[in-house]
Formats: sequence, C-alpha cells, structure tokens
Amino acid sequence: MKHREDASARDRIISAIEENDVFVILTHVSPDGDSIGSLVALWRVLVHRGKQCFALFPGDMPPEYLFLLGGEDLPRSLPSGQKWDVVVLLDIPSISRLPLSLNRQIPPCKELINIDHHESNDIRGTINWVDPSASSVGEMLCHLLEHARYDVSSEVATALYTAILTDTGSFRFPNTTSSSLRAAARLVTYGVNPARVAQHVYGSHSLRKFQLLGLALATLQTCFSGKVAYMWVTRKMLDEVGVSPVEADGFINFPREIKGVEVAILFKQEGPEGEVKVSLRSKRRNVVVSRVAEMFHGGGHPLAAGCTLSGSAETVQELILKAIAEELEQAGMAASASSLSGSPSKG
Ligand code: AMP
Ligand code: MN
Ligand code: MN
Repeated sequence: MKHREDASARDRIISAIEENDVFVILTHVSPDGDSIGSLVALWRVLVHRGKQCFALFPGDMPPEYLFLLGGEDLPRSLPSGQKWDVVVLLDIPSISRLPLSLNRQIPPCKELINIDHHESNDIRGTINWVDPSASSVGEMLCHLLEHARYDVSSEVATALYTAILTDTGSFRFPNTTSSSLRAAARLVTYGVNPARVAQHVYGSHSLRKFQLLGLALATLQTCFSGKVAYMWVTRKMLDEVGVSPVEADGFINFPREIKGVEVAILFKQEGPEGEVKVSLRSKRRNVVVSRVAEMFHGGGHPLAAGCTLSGSAETVQELILKAIAEELEQAGMAASASSLSGSPSKG
C-alpha cells in the first residue's frame, strides 16, 4: 500500500513539474550534503527543462560542498509579493527548519511539494512524499528522475551521489541498503567520478579545521560505562582558531567511532553566547535519539538527531546526559548516573 502511495505521489510530482513554470526550491538550515546535493540537483533539472527556478540559499554552507554549485551563486532571499506556481521542500521535516530568511513562512504557492525521509515530517503539502526507508532525499530524487525518464546529467548525478554518500556516512550507517547502493551505482553510470567527489568532500579540508579538531578531541570522553561518548566545540576554541562553527561538520563521527559507544554527542557553542547546538547519533534503533532531541524542541531521525539549547556548558551537558540516560534505560541498557565520569569541559 505504502509503495502504491509513493508511486502516486511521485507521478503527481512529475505532473506538477510538467504543468507549471515558476518554482522555488527550499532545503533546511544548517545544510548538509543531502540537503545541498538534493537542492542543487533538482534546481539543475528544472532549469534544464526550461523552468524559472529559485533555489534559495539555506544558510552557511560547509565549504566542502561548494563544488556542487560550479561557481554559481544561490539567491539569499526571494522577491516579495509573488505567488509561486510550485514550492518544493527538500529534507525539511518541520517549519522550524526553513531557511531563516523566510521567517518560518512557506512562500505562497499553488502547489506545495514535500519530499523528505524524516519519519517525524509534520508538513502538510498538497503533495507529500515522505519515505523514511530512503537513505536520503538524494536517493529519492534519483528514483524520481529515473521514473520520469528525465535526462540525468553528470552534474546532477554528482549532486545526488554526494547526497547519498554523506547521509549514509560514506556507506557506513544502517541506512546503507541495497537500494541506496544501487542508486549510487546507477549515478556512477550517469557520470559521477566517486574519487573526485571523495576528494572534494573528505580531502579538501582547511588546516584550521584540523586545528579545531585537535582542541575538540582533547575534550572527548565517555560516560555510562563507555556507552556514551561526547565532545565539545566551544566558542573559545572557534575564536582561538578563527573559524566558523560549520568547520566542525563531521566531528560527531569521532565519538561515534569509539568501540562500545551506543550514543555519540557533539556539543557546539554556536552563535550568541549561551546557545549550544547538540548533535546526537545512535547506533541501534532501540535507542532513539530523535526522542531526546524532541524533548528540547529539536528533531531528526531515530539514529541521527539534533537540537539547540540555551545555557551554560555545565547545564546543557547535564540536561542532555540525563535525557540520554533515560533513553538508554528504556532500551534496557542500564545507565546509572553513578557511571557518569568527568565534568563538563569548558575547553
Ligand atoms: P546534525 O546533528 O545537525 O547533523 O543533524 C542530524 C539530524 O537531525 C538531521 O537530520 C537534521 O535534520 C536533524 N536536526 C538537527 N538539528 C535539528 C533541530 N534543531 N531541529 C530539528 N531537527 C534537527
Ligand atoms: Mn539533512
Ligand atoms: Mn537527509
């Protein structure tokens, strides 16, 4: 049944593309490889099909994904007072994740297309295609373009491949399925050079990123008998190295890669003093980190979620560790507070 619904949503999306002329494509704030890759791919497809299409800049882009734009720029805001034919939301589970320039408002439109793979998606578009079994929106768009028999250029394929590659953690996370691997393989036949993409995404970092990583790694510690690992990127570290918080993209993988760790946490003091962005990763479906993120008005997937809290490092760390302990206990992994080691790091 679900597959029939998905098929009909896909057909309706293709009809909406064929029947309309002016499009806006949006993706979430704090963009990642999936959101940027999907945005760029659909934008290129629509422009190639002769549509007028605005792909709105979603906020600071991690520099490793800029190659997907090929030197082109994205508009920072939309012309006001216009009613659009179609607005497409990609990888956006809730209104709170819309680009900041929109002030939490979806631009007025005839057709609102919601394409996402977050289970928690609560947006009601006129067409909703939400598939939590998909590794990424990039994988979904690959199916969509093939189903529509649209030409997939090597540039479009590269953007979609980058989306799948990054949302599966380089084909390491549990969302690495035969479907995501096959989609990636087909994209390679359309002209992706995987080594070139890997060079951009994983092999083009700044020296400062590694200097920041060095400071952050010094705070890495485990608690709850080694089941939880966490690390801090503080405002002080960012100022000392002279980089923006986007340079900490990917740091969450270090606590995640410690043997025996079930939940990894990255605390990042971004923006104004006192605001801490928390990234959460779980290794198993019975420990649902999106439930923890939702307690603090964030969200995400069962195995990858995030939220932002205000408060001192000590307070934020204590609140999150307590919530994680409860989640571990619910999953039958006892995590007594007494096994909590170390005190909050001020870096
Ligand atoms: P991150 O830790 O920023 O890489 O995010 C992991 C996942 O959680 C992604 O799917 C995000 O879309 C989601 N996420 C992160 N921060 C938030 C937030 N504040 N609210 C809702 N979802 C979030
Ligand atoms: Mn995303
Ligand atoms: Mn995604």
